[in-house]
Order: sequence, then structure tokens, then C-alpha cells
Amino acid sequence: MAIYQLKINHLDAPFGISSNDICYSFQTDESGPFIVSIESDGRIIITKTIQMHDAIAFTMDQNLEYGKKYNYRVKSEANEASLAFETAMELKAPFIKPLDETVFSPIFHKDFVLEGDIVEARLYITGLGLYHADINGHKVGNRYLTPGFNDYDYYLRYQTFDITDLLQKENHIAVEMGDGWYKGRFGFKGPNDNGDTIWGNDYKLCAHLKIQYKGGKTQDIYTDESWTISSSLEKENGIYDGEEIDYNLPMLSKGKVAICESSYHLIPDYGCGIIQHDALKPSLIISTRGEHILDFHQNMVGFIRYSGSLKKGQRLHILHGEVLQQGCFYNANLRSAKAEMTYIGDGKPHLYEPKFTFFGFRYALIEGLDNVDPADFEGIVIYSDIPATFSCVTDNPKINQLIQNAYWGQRGNFIDLPTDCPQRDERLGWTADTQVFVNTACYQMDCYNFYKKYLQDLRGDQVLYYHGDIAKFSPSLKAKDTPGGAVWSDAGTIIPWNLYCNYGDKQLLESSYPMMRDYVEVLIQRDIDQGHKHLILEGFCYGDWLAQDGISPQSLTGSTDHGYIKSIYYYHSLDLLTLAARELGQADDFKRYEAIKQQVKQAILDEWFAPNGKFALDTQTSYVLALSFGVYRDKDRLIQDFKERLRKDLYHMKTGFVGTPLILNCLFDHGLNEEAYRILYNEECPGWLYAVNMGATTIWERWNSILPDGTISGTAMNSLNHYAYGSVCEAIYSRIAGLRNLAPGWKKVEIKPHLNYRMKQMDFSFDSPSGKFIIHWGIKDRFNIKATIPHGVIATLILPDGTTHELSGGESAFTCDIPASLTHPFHIHTPFIDLLMSQDASHILKEILPNVYEVVTGDNIEFKLDTLDSIRYWYGTHIEDDQLKKALQRLGQLER
Ligand code: BGC
Repeated sequence: MAIYQLKINHLDAPFGISSNDICYSFQTDESGPFIVSIESDGRIIITKTIQMHDAIAFTMDQNLEYGKKYNYRVKSEANEASLAFETAMELKAPFIKPLDETVFSPIFHKDFVLEGDIVEARLYITGLGLYHADINGHKVGNRYLTPGFNDYDYYLRYQTFDITDLLQKENHIAVEMGDGWYKGRFGFKGPNDNGDTIWGNDYKLCAHLKIQYKGGKTQDIYTDESWTISSSLEKENGIYDGEEIDYNLPMLSKGKVAICESSYHLIPDYGCGIIQHDALKPSLIISTRGEHILDFHQNMVGFIRYSGSLKKGQRLHILHGEVLQQGCFYNANLRSAKAEMTYIGDGKPHLYEPKFTFFGFRYALIEGLDNVDPADFEGIVIYSDIPATFSCVTDNPKINQLIQNAYWGQRGNFIDLPTDCPQRDERLGWTADTQVFVNTACYQMDCYNFYKKYLQDLRGDQVLYYHGDIAKFSPSLKAKDTPGGAVWSDAGTIIPWNLYCNYGDKQLLESSYPMMRDYVEVLIQRDIDQGHKHLILEGFCYGDWLAQDGISPQSLTGSTDHGYIKSIYYYHSLDLLTLAARELGQADDFKRYEAIKQQVKQAILDEWFAPNGKFALDTQTSYVLALSFGVYRDKDRLIQDFKERLRKDLYHMKTGFVGTPLILNCLFDHGLNEEAYRILYNEECPGWLYAVNMGATTIWERWNSILPDGTISGTAMNSLNHYAYGSVCEAIYSRIAGLRNLAPGWKKVEIKPHLNYRMKQMDFSFDSPSGKFIIHWGIKDRFNIKATIPHGVIATLILPDGTTHELSGGESAFTCDIPASLTHPFHIHTPFIDLLMSQDASHILKEILPNVYEVVTGDNIEFKLDTLDSIRYWYGTHIEDDQLKKALQRLGQLER
């Protein structure tokens, strides 16, 4: 029995955190109650009794003080545990900027002398655009690209660093500034086409060094007029275009600083800044054009570190790309992003790496070296400091690769904000991409702080620029674009609700509730403006973005009726708002929105469903939305029609950004298990395993990003690291591994693996806020499952034989009979599409029924939908009875 995993804001070493809005949590295998106390200077300042079911997220109902050390203690009758933490000082220093505003990437300097023996020292700091702080020549902290990407008009984060070990008697602090997101070229629509930057033109710095001496004396050093400016080695830097560093540049004194007016809303950082997580070693390729190309074997995000040497004036030029074309370097799909690094040597040794940019790449073209030794290079993988919470390995290497691709996609696109892609001239916090991936993301990593920050961005844009509506991407670069429209803007309800489900933090739901409500009110008003039909039929919407049922393979918006998408998402957002209202005890709101929701549902039924239940729309995404959101007259009929739609589409997904993230969950939940597996295991385009077969190491933006001959399918919009379709992993974890969340914070779960002969083994673990779940299942002659459940979680296991078992904390093992179809799946009614996926079955057909084999592998792909039973009735595919019998016998014996 123990109390463990004490965390504050999901951090196990909380440092420099905000003194209010704190989420406490712990795990335990005791039943409680627990006495929780916050101590400071050896005294208890707040205390509270917590029951076990509240341990995943609770508040102490009182703000703490700025810049103070505390101890968080949890006690039961038998045990206790504690966690030390420190809040950030309020950053009150003035902002300073160079008096000479023409200096590019200036360095702010300050010398100071210690006044005694120090106990500890802190640096509270922020800057615009990016800052890189050194004390006595050593980098402060381990963060990159500080202070991150902020919605600067709404908030600006500052960071806290422990600098005790960097100080000596005489000290020098140098803070170099880069352009970053704040200034410089950023935003895919060319917001600074006329040369302006988005938020401002000045480099600004705000810092407070606080030094605590033995004996109680303190020394405070603030940014003020005593700081000076010098030029730096930087010739260029920008998020899209990369960086140029010239080691020969003289670092000239550039005079004084000026104090500048500022009205930034400064907030302490959330504790998940961008850090280095990995270093990949490349190999060298020499292309037919004689190019020296490094292959890092993984589409990664970060930068290349070079530890070789450069002669004076020697220019090392590095270009980044995601894919080779005909074995040669290629990067045209990065569009206008130059994504290049240039170093000009001074003959002295340096560790060459950028300070103010990052790249998305697998390959790098190296120019300017006499000899390219791959051992001199490393691919430094950076992303936000958020821990992994899962592992998932199946018996199928391709599915395993798909899972890894989705995980790499998350890592590469979690650079302070959830981006669409990390490489081209975009890298924006697109709202639909974020909402479709949110549940997969929360299985794979603890995203609590990461999304908490993004909620600020959404809300900031909503209140500052969009009058209640939600942006297409956030931060919106001062509303550079119109609101997102259905699916995109619905991030405003979908993300907060799903974060609540995943992390169980009511405080966070409560603070997001105004955003959810304001957005839904915008939808209601839109409906009223359009004639109050309880539908939204007009106005902008991206549709089923990039779906394959559009008018061409490169078509953008798919074929699903936009009015239907807009109206059903109106319904969906109302639904999520009513759930939140009920959870937060907002009874009047609940009544209001529930009534409107029912009216919208009725209007959708009247508009698109005949009285007999027949659905007027016939695209895959239309069915997925109706079934997933529960809007239909006759569910069974809808399922049958969906099944037929999939058959007619040869079980190829036609869905885009709207349907794809939901399709597998929808199929599993409506008894279409076979269809779900057939789609997941499909290796042709469009399909997840097509990309895996093509060597993808991340998820692509388009199903056909790379064509079967290896050619990239167009450069206008084609990223090879776009996590949105990685949302398929939610279905793998929740429906195939079978661990599904039924109550906020994973306090109640269902374990129900959906089985199929294609997958024989699953090893899955997930570190939830309620504790760690481990699931191993396998199919041999029987089904075997071992499940480990955290103490206190209500868990129901549903076995494939339909029996239900309530599990208690710890490990339990079960076994049950399985239908023969899970081991011997092939019979007279198996469609050829499935038989042909198996090499053995194909051989049997070819050998025993060559005429059938010829037909079903011929030009008319329609025959793939036939079975050995149905094909007999087609002209030209006559089958002798004994041949059929022989084939069926051999097929029936095939073990899968
Ligand atoms: C982005 C998408 C985004 C879309 C909106 C693209 O350029 O990369 O992922 O959702 O625009 O249509």
C-alpha cells in the first residue's frame, strides 16, 4: 500500500509554475481518505481531505504566493508522500530594446558582481521574438526557442531558470535575440508580404535575476538602461527560412538600450518547453548528381548538429528535405520555406547548431565540405517536454510501423503548439488537425499542459478577434484568416471536452466553458440569421478536406454535403456543451442547449432522412457522422447502407479530415468489425499501410502524397509529416487493444478487444491519470488476456464470448473459446479481396481454379467483391464441383 506519483499540473518536478490555477494529483492503492496539505517555511498553510476518486485532479481552493517554495504532502493513516515545488516570481521588470533599432539579432549584455555567498539564484525571463540566454558562456537551461509561440496580444509566457550553478564572483549575462514567430516572415498567407512583421518590429527583453545570499540578503537585477547591446554572429534567422551564422562577424558594441512601453499579459510558462529528446545518427548517400546527402532514417523535427571543423571563410550549407526523388535531393514540397542552415567558419572549433529555427526533414543536402563524414553530424530531435504514456506492439510489423509513424508525427508537430506540419511555410496551429488528433495524442503522451496552453490560444483569438467564433488556426497571427467553419472551429468545444474526459480536471473544463458557450452561441446566431431552420446551410466550410471522393484525386473538399457537415457539427457542439453544462451544474444552460440540440437533430432528420429511415446522402463520411453522433431514424438500415457503400468503394477509404478520424471507431461500434479490419489492413492507396509500404516514417498529409513509383504527387500542399490521419491510433488503442475511457480521468473503463483473424497479438500499456493499464491479449486455440488495472478504477472486461467480468486493481487473466473464423477464416463466402490479401490463399486459387484467379486479378476490379459462391454465376467462370470442393478444403485448412 502506498501513495505515489504526486504531481502538480501533471509535472513531477514543478518549478516556476503559476501560483494560481494549480491542479494537484496523486495515485495510490489505498482507499483513503487522505489529508492533503501545502506547507511553506515548515508550516502548513492549506489543508484538505481528499477521497480516493478525487486524487486524479483537485484544487486546494487558494492561490499561493509568487516566487515561493512549497511542499505538497499527502497523508493517509498508514503512509505519506510529498513533493517540493516552487512558484514563479511575478515578472515585473521593464522591457528593454536596442536604441539602435537596425541591429539584426542583437545581444543584450549585463555584467554583475556577486555580493556574498549565494544560496540560490533564479532568472525570470521572456523576450520578443526568441531569446537565447547565456551566463558566463553557458546556456541557461535546456529549452529551445524560448519563450515559444504565444498569442502575444493575449498573453506572453516567461520562463524561470535555476542559475545557481552558473554564477561565479564576476558574471556576464548575454541574451541573444532572434526573430521567431513574433517577428520575421511567418504565416503561410504572406502576412508580411509588404515587409511588416506580424506583431512588432522590435527585439524586446524582460528579465529579472534574483540572487539569494546566505544570511538572508537578496540582490535583484532587472532589465533596465544599464544593459548594453552588441551585434551577433547571426546574419539571418527565421522559422521558415533557417539561419545563417558567420563566425567572422565582429561582435560590435551597438550602444545603449531604451526602456519600452509594454502591456503584455505575462504568465509563467506551463512547464513543457521545447527540449532535446534524441540524437539520430545519419548515413551518407552520394546521389547520381554527386550530391552528398545525409539520411537520418526518420522524418524528424529539430536540427542538425555539426561537430567537424570549418576553415576561415569556408561555407557549410545544409538544405533539409523529406524525401528523395530518383535518389536525388528534393525539397520543393516545402514551398517557399528555404529551410537552410549556413555556417561560415573562422578556422576555430565550434559546435555548429542553430539557435532560432527548426526543420522537418529526413534528408539533408550537405554543401561546402571537402569531405562529408556522417559521424560529424547528429539529428537533434526536439519537441515539447511531455512524457510518453503508451506502448503498443502487435504481431504485425506494418501496423507497428503505422503506430510509430503516428507517434513520430505527434513528436514532430508538438513544438510548443499542435501544428499541421513542421517543415513547409505553414507550421500553424490548425484547429481541425488538432481536434481530430486529441484523443490519440492523449493516449500517447501526457498532453495536459501542452493543450492547456493551446486553449489559451483558442480563447485569445476568440475574444480578441473573432467575436465568439473560433479561428482556422491559433494563434491566428492577428486574425490573418476568417473563422474556421465547421469541424475546424468546433475545436472550441471538442478539445476542452476531450481534455476533460482524458484528464478529469474540472477546473480546466470550468475555465474553458465560456469558450465553448460563446462558440455555440455564434452557431445559434448563424442559424437564426439563416432563417432559423435549426440548420446551418450557408457560409464557409472546408468540407471533408482532402477526401478521395472529390472530383479529382487532388481535390480539396470531397463530396460530402457541406450543409450536412455544418449542421451535424452544430448538433455535435451543442451536444458537447450540454455534457459540459451538466458536469458543471449549469442547469439553466443545460436546459437551453439541450432543447436547441433536439430541434437541430429533428431538422437534420427532416432535411436528410426520409420518413422510412432512408438516408439521402451516400458518402462514407455522411454515414460515419450520422452513426458516430447518433443522428438517424433507423440505425440498422443506416448500418446496412454504409456497409453497401463501403463494398461499392471496394473497401477503400474515401474519407478526408472529417470522416477518417472517426471511421474505424464507428465501424467497430456498429458491428462492422470485418470492414474496420479490412480498411486498416488495406495496403493499397488510399490506406494507412500504403504509406507504410512506401517507406513512410511519419503520417502523410494526403493518402497519395507519394505515388506508387515513388514520385511526390504535387507540391502545392503535400507534407510528409502531418499527424491528422494518425488519429487512426485512437481506434487501435481503444477498440483493438480495447481499452476505452468511460469516465473523466479514466476512473471507469471498458476493456473490449475487437478481434479479427488478421491480428493475433496485442501488447498495450497506457499510463493514465488514474494509473497504469497493461493489456496483453493473444489468439491461439483460445483467446487469452491478461489485464492490469490501477487500484480504484472501475473496469469491465468484455470477452469475445460475450461474458462480462468486473475487474479489480492488479492483474487478472482470462481465457475463452473463440470462433473458428479467427484462426481459419477462409470459406465459400470470403470475398476475393480478402483471399488475395493472403499469399497462401492466392496460390491455392491460382493452382486449383486458374480461370477464377485470372478473372479476379484482372482489369475489372469489381470481381474482387465476389466470393467463390457468387462468382460461379458469372459467364466464363464456371467451376467444377470437385475443383470447388478441393479449393475450399485447402482454403479451410489455412491457418491465419
Ligand atoms: C493545412 C491543413 C489544414 C488545412 C485547412 C492546410 O494547409 O496543412 O492541415 O487543416 O490547410 O484546410
